[in-house]
Amino acid sequence: MTERQLMWFRGDLRVRDNTALAAAMSAGPTVALFLLSPQQWQEHDDAPCKVDFWLRNLAELARELRALNVPLLLRTAAHWRDAPKVIATLCREHGITRVQVNDEYGIHETRRDEQVAAELAKIDVDFQGHLDQLFFQPGSVLTQSGGYFKVFSQFRKACYQRLHTALPARIATPPAQASLDITSDSVPGAVEGFATPDATLQALWPAGEDAALERLTTFADEQIDDYQVQRDLPAKPGTSQLSAYLAAGVLSPRQCLYAALRINQGEFETGSAGAVTWINELLWREFYKHVLVGYPRVSRHRAFRPHTEALPWRDAPADLAAWQQGRTGLPLIDAAMRQLLATGWMHNRLRMVVAMFLTKNLLIDWREGERFFMRHLIDGDLAANNGGWQWSASTGTDAVPYFRLFNPISQSQRFDPEGRFIRHWLPELADLGNRDIHNPAGAGGLFGPAGYPAPIVDLASSRDRALQAFKNLPRQESDDE
Ligand code: FAD
Repeated sequence: MTERQLMWFRGDLRVRDNTALAAAMSAGPTVALFLLSPQQWQEHDDAPCKVDFWLRNLAELARELRALNVPLLLRTAAHWRDAPKVIATLCREHGITRVQVNDEYGIHETRRDEQVAAELAKIDVDFQGHLDQLFFQPGSVLTQSGGYFKVFSQFRKACYQRLHTALPARIATPPAQASLDITSDSVPGAVEGFATPDATLQALWPAGEDAALERLTTFADEQIDDYQVQRDLPAKPGTSQLSAYLAAGVLSPRQCLYAALRINQGEFETGSAGAVTWINELLWREFYKHVLVGYPRVSRHRAFRPHTEALPWRDAPADLAAWQQGRTGLPLIDAAMRQLLATGWMHNRLRMVVAMFLTKNLLIDWREGERFFMRHLIDGDLAANNGGWQWSASTGTDAVPYFRLFNPISQSQRFDPEGRFIRHWLPELADLGNRDIHNPAGAGGLFGPAGYPAPIVDLASSRDRALQAFKNLPRQESDDE
């Protein structure tokens, strides 16, 4: 008897190098499923542009699956707690004997999968998870004393050792199966509650595996060697801009790793500084997902370093709104926030600068920034976003020391020396010279006529306020648990 399989797609919207899909199709005739979960997405603060990106990629995935004769079914489980019943019903309808998935991390994802597996067990349907989103199984890269790493450089060293032993293998795309007598569902163009972004934003992020692979190949062939020098300059397209594709699983981290290895003669630790640095970023991605599993409190809106929960965060709605809307009066901050609002993406250097400004100069809780980012990022990812915010706020694992505050004006002078990035996003400042553009207030201000606000905060005194707040924190033993 043939064992009919259900491939449940989640954050892995591709057919190439997809572990669970290949396992399902080699085990038996396969049907594919994607769940629409608008209530859950709202609870997770998933951005409308990200949901739109999922839907656009889902339409491309449906096309790829059609070529493999795999029908794609869509079901609504508004909240993940509805998923067990919805999937069990579908399994009964289609005579499914096994559900195959690529593992996802985070406490809600884990609970969802446990509940689905338990419901399926009642009707004798297997539930099988696969490692796919990461190079290494969380829990398999541990310190000598058996704990999860808290320091990235040590984690990376352990990853290098593993990579020297064996590279994670890529998975061949399965051949087409015989047609099944099941009609695919059509993919909706939008889901209620998530507005469709404008065409300009959509055009920045073309959907589908072909588009993602083309971007990866171009980056590897033309840019990766310069990555180390270009990656901090927001005016240049020096980074890969692949994060949205990785977050939605349109691209696998293995495909990224192999593209970099191809350029660097198979080396990941030596050779092209650009390729080594880029692989390093893939390992940061890996690190934060391991942290999420090893220290689940970060999934619960808790600080990685519990004693920092005592920081006297300010309740300052007007300052928060100015930060969110890009009208703080500090050009680099405002340009970065406008980039986020217009494109769903922000350059990594600027993510650090705006996050540090919010949490240090404005002394506003990092959770406000984390949530706002999640609601606007096309690449919003719990592990990376939480890791980035807690790094910047000095509340996280291997975080920046609290006394190393970025000054947004010096950062601007250093990383956008000619003000090209600022001029692009703040056309009202376009006429300022290269010296004044970083700090119009210092040049006597041009606030009224140009409509650009005066700085909402004094950088020196707000810096002192932040240092003081951190200095006054009681040190707690439990931080080192
Ligand atoms: P590249 O520089 O080309 O890097 C390649 C890939 O490596 C990225 O696509 C990404 O998957 C991964 N990566 C790079 N840097 C990091 C990092 N520091 N941590 C984890 N993974 C990394 N990244 C997200 O994918 N989603 C988020 O929600 C997110 N939120 C962030 C919030 C803050 C406050 C900070 C400081 C960083 C955040 N990052 C996040 C990490 C980083 O900014 C983005 O991954 C990067 O800017 C994406 O652009 P890129 O694809 O051109 O990256």
